[in-house]
Amino acid sequence: MANDKVLVLEGEMSLVLRQMNKTFYSNKEIFLQELINNASNALDKIQFESHTNKNILDDRVIRLVPHKANKTLSIIDTGIGMTHTDLAYNLGVGFYSTYLIADKVIVTSKHNDHDQYIWESQHGASFIVTNDINAQQPSRGTNITIFLKDNQVHKLEYLEEVTIKNLVIKYCQHISYRIYLWNENTKDDWQLINIWLHNRERDSKHVAQKLMNHIPDDFVFSILSNLPLKSLKRFGCVRRSWALLFENSHFMNLLRNSFICNHQSYYDDTYLLLNLSPLYQNHYNSSLFSISGKRFENMEKLYWPSQIQEDYIEGIGILGSSSINGIMCLYVKDLVYLWNPTINEFKVIPPSPFENAPYYIYIGIKYHGFGYDCVRDDYKVIRKVSFFVNSDDDVEPHDVFPLSCIWEMYSLRSNSWTNLQLHDCVPTTYDDNNKFYLEGMCHWLGYAESRIQPVISFDLIISQSI
Ligand code: ADP
Repeated sequence: MANDKVLVLEGEMSLVLRQMNKTFYSNKEIFLQELINNASNALDKIQFESHTNKNILDDRVIRLVPHKANKTLSIIDTGIGMTHTDLAYNLGVGFYSTYLIADKVIVTSKHNDHDQYIWESQHGASFIVTNDINAQQPSRGTNITIFLKDNQVHKLEYLEEVTIKNLVIKYCQHISYRIYLWNENTKDDWQLINIWLHNRERDSKHVAQKLMNHIPDDFVFSILSNLPLKSLKRFGCVRRSWALLFENSHFMNLLRNSFICNHQSYYDDTYLLLNLSPLYQNHYNSSLFSISGKRFENMEKLYWPSQIQEDYIEGIGILGSSSINGIMCLYVKDLVYLWNPTINEFKVIPPSPFENAPYYIYIGIKYHGFGYDCVRDDYKVIRKVSFFVNSDDDVEPHDVFPLSCIWEMYSLRSNSWTNLQLHDCVPTTYDDNNKFYLEGMCHWLGYAESRIQPVISFDLIISQSI
């Protein structure tokens, strides 16, 4: 279809134009509104198509090019474009309003799936549509060039920057695409003329930003609590408030529930320890073995740390009977140590200020748990310190120690003890074999007067007993 022509009867077209002239005579300028509206609709259509077709280029703009020497004004869009049929049959009153100020119009249009066509009409009396065989690099969209009427008193007005800008401000506030005006004087400058779009975009970004800051906490909590622990810790860098979530008990409850539901593990590198204590005559030294592997196939003899005097070796206890990341918590009498036999590292845990109670106070220490806080990458020890007054001592009434017991937690990171402010009635354990550590929690079987023995679970991350 190299030279496809469509002609309409002069009479019909003239009738339309005459009618239009009657209606719009006093308001010729509306032609620009009509053409920009059409361009905007064409851009809406291509935007809609781009949802299903990812090959569609995302450049949606309207350009206005005045050319004083030629007395033309071009309205160019990168919209859906028009097919041969569109050009021949669909152009209507809106488009023909250009003849209020023009005596010739040329439309060049390219639809993505069709050839490029040229629509041309002198005086609007008849038109021809031809296949644009010279189209170099067909690009999608429509270019409407209007040749201003020679007999117009104000004909060049529509080519003035000020006039065009004012018309756009007057008629195109609703257009959501950028409208650029070609600067004829500098000849290399596209000027954005619906500048308010910038502000609107900025405002909507601002609103979005505000919304972001106001996502309800519960919603944020439930999303974050479903993340793997590693990601969650990394996200702490995104926002300071997220880094502090680990201090929030409501969030920690959600996190723990999600771990349980997702069958994830805070930590799963527990070794079994075998502590053999043969009670031969004159031979009290116990032998310690570390057992690991899926089927406990790796068994390794460990030698007690040389820092602990030989005399005490038979009295060494391993808190929780477990090794965590290769580290054990040993206790002998009232002293506690952290010991990593693999790298032969040994650390004495310092005393807490409560151990410096007045001379007439007797102190009883009971170690309850040793565990790992994966959130802070910290090792912790839980113990109960009880205070007794020996009634035989000569104690002044005002000297009486105000506390009967405290629960303390040691943190390797801070290398200090803190008073847990736990309720006095948290059940204590008196048996060394009923404490164990699992998944960030220390558990022990508490002593109770009644026959039912409670299990106490202490969460090392939120520092609370359940
Ligand atoms: P009406 O005012 O009756 O809607 P118009 O002449 O404004 O008539 O437009 C008629 C049709 O021509 C539009 O519905 C559209 O399909 C097509 N059209 C007009 N301008 C463009 C354009 N820039 N890009 C793509 N299609 C257009």
